[in-house]
Amino acid sequence: MPAPTTATRLGVATRVATVVLLAGYALLVLARPGRAPSLVTDLTWNGAVIAATASVLARAMSGPSRGAWMALAVGLTSWSLGGLAFMSFNRVESPPFPSWADVGYLGIYPAAFVACLALLAGGIRTVPVSRWLDGVVAGTFVGALVALALPAILDGIGGSPAQVAVTLAYPLADAMLLGLVGFGGVVAGRRASLPWALLGLGLAVFAVSDTIYLLRIAGGSYRENTILDIGWPLAVALMAFAAWSPATPRAPRAGSLTGNATPVTCALAALALLVVASTTEIGVAAVALAAISGTASVGRLLVTLREVRRLGDSRRLAITDDLTGLENRRGLYARIDATLAQAGERPVALLLLDLDRFKEINDSLGHHVGDDLLRLVAGRLRDSVGPAATLARLGGDEFVVLATVDAEHAVATAERICRVLEAPLELEGVVTHVSASVGVAVAPGTGSTRSDLLRHADIAMYRAKRVRGTVECYREGDDLPARSELKLAGDLRTAIGTGEIVVHYQPKVRMDDGRVVGVEALARWQHPVHGLLGPQHFIELAERRGLMRALTLDVMRQAVTQHKAWAREGLDLPVAVNLSAADMLDVRLPADVGRLLGELRVAPDNLTLEITENTLMSDPTGTLEVLEALQASGVAFSLDDFGTGFSSLARLKRLPVSELKIDRSFVKDMTTASDDAAIVRSTIDLAHNLGLRTVAEGVEDVEQWEALRCLGCHVAQGFLLSRPLPADELVAWVRARRPLATVR
Ligand code: C2E
Ligand code: CA
Ligand code: CA
Repeated sequence: MPAPTTATRLGVATRVATVVLLAGYALLVLARPGRAPSLVTDLTWNGAVIAATASVLARAMSGPSRGAWMALAVGLTSWSLGGLAFMSFNRVESPPFPSWADVGYLGIYPAAFVACLALLAGGIRTVPVSRWLDGVVAGTFVGALVALALPAILDGIGGSPAQVAVTLAYPLADAMLLGLVGFGGVVAGRRASLPWALLGLGLAVFAVSDTIYLLRIAGGSYRENTILDIGWPLAVALMAFAAWSPATPRAPRAGSLTGNATPVTCALAALALLVVASTTEIGVAAVALAAISGTASVGRLLVTLREVRRLGDSRRLAITDDLTGLENRRGLYARIDATLAQAGERPVALLLLDLDRFKEINDSLGHHVGDDLLRLVAGRLRDSVGPAATLARLGGDEFVVLATVDAEHAVATAERICRVLEAPLELEGVVTHVSASVGVAVAPGTGSTRSDLLRHADIAMYRAKRVRGTVECYREGDDLPARSELKLAGDLRTAIGTGEIVVHYQPKVRMDDGRVVGVEALARWQHPVHGLLGPQHFIELAERRGLMRALTLDVMRQAVTQHKAWAREGLDLPVAVNLSAADMLDVRLPADVGRLLGELRVAPDNLTLEITENTLMSDPTGTLEVLEALQASGVAFSLDDFGTGFSSLARLKRLPVSELKIDRSFVKDMTTASDDAAIVRSTIDLAHNLGLRTVAEGVEDVEQWEALRCLGCHVAQGFLLSRPLPADELVAWVRARRPLATVR
């Protein structure tokens, strides 16, 4: 095998020879078209073809895609040999037909097909289906065009079967070749490499020259050495240059319009051809190919539609919330940006809506019920805002309504939404109701960027949460507390365990004889700047900032220590300490409690832990591991705020509680509202049946006291008896009322 450098040099030399000989022949023909064949014309014509063939052969010796070029070289050699064979009897009276010359000539076709396909396959890796179909559309159409010439070429065809076959073979092979080039050209499109483009051009010139030649032969008008005869050596020269051009694929360029132009034109022209065929005789082959082209273009259309739909689907999914079908966070962000950009000076309102107690529902009734609820809420939202508003789910139980309205309208909308949401709904056969807290922010005014709007609505929503189930509008300066929360959290961290957290005690009084049966420890924060702060200012904060464990232990240590001090003074006052949700997940808590009681040598039955239903719900698996460990240490449990949560009777039975505390909200209206009275009554009955003690919270007046006593409630706690008091004041209170048998 020659060294690459030799091949390269040979390639250059042969291409130079090709160009020189081709130019020579062209000059001769152009100077006098149809001149009589001579040694010079024969030599230049054949010389150009042979030099170009040699060039392709040299290229096939090395470099990429050698197989393709070798196939082409073999084809060209076959064709050249055919030419030489034909020349040997060219000018005899009646040359034999078919002959060896035809074998040689036809040999180029299979070789050219192989070369084409090999180059195409090597050059193109990822081609979408639509493009392959484009190729078929274009290829069959080009084939149909060539086939148009068939009737003329085959006019008066006759002779032996071999003669008919060979006469048919030429135009058919040319049609196929052109079709293939058309197909390949479209498939490769703008990514077509230079070799492929030049080869395609060369083969096209070849096939077109051939077809014209056949037409002229059939019509008896063929003359040697006209411009047509330049076609073949030119075609072969193009192939030689194709073989040697660098195979760097061109970068694909955008522009689907031009990408669609070829198949669309072809498809339309194929249809036109079919229309013409209905009135004119144009041959079966052309009609068949045009029909294929048309069919393929319909297929191509369907594929394109599918691709477009998929693209649309993927875009839609990317901005849609799976569960509710509302926009998701990403979709919302884009909407806010677009709305703000369009609104100009007009107001844009953002309503941030957060369901109250969603986590409880989710944890107690299961996630599928939670999902149902979210879908229900989404539906109600859709019903309560106009079509112009954007609805989105930010995730979890947070929803957003975006509309170009002013603050007044936004608040009205928010209130309407709250009303609609509060209508009873049925989940898993349980009729319940949800409420929501809504924060409203309006741009421009409080801020004019997307993040301003979202942040301000969030701050307003949290304020609404604190007030419970209402609508709050963001006001200028509202984010100051949000900023100062950071500072407050820092303060709280240092306050715990250093005496700034103080404990007040509220007595629990037995209703039959008025005896004080214990006290509830309630935390306060003696803040150096803000003064005495109630738990509403720091319990949530401690939960959010992970300070709950330290706070609970601080309060508990103070309460148990205080109990021991009272005991030394002769007062038997068991203490109750509140636990929060975070405490129920704190696996170290049981050991801490046990250690504290041991250290202070206080019997565990002097300590009650108050837990709410909601607190219990924080344990999603319901294993209540911490609760059971605490119970094992001997402390008692009280179920706080009873009636406000979602706990089922079945669950209640399993809980190791010894006391139910009827929530203040029911006690408050029990003497005026009959349903609250009914709730209190049935709670007391329920507790009796379960063998639990009942404590009424928030007893503020004598009527309530009397009513509760009549219902058989065991213990009362409330302002009627005493507010929560510092330890020393509580002692004074207890001593002052000791002689009394009843509260009055
Ligand atoms: P809670 O456990 O339901 O405590 C009873 C609350 O009701 C106390 O509010 C008490 O002052 C108030 N209260 C008592 N009697 C009456 C009455 O007749 N009328 C009215 N309107 N209110 C009455 P406080 O001390 O502000 O505590 C609020 C909540 O903060 C407590 O509700 C409890 O959930 C939480 N909390 C307080 N201290 C602690 C603590 O040390 N740890 C934990 N985790 N939570 C605490
Ligand atoms: Ca409590
Ligand atoms: Ca309570």
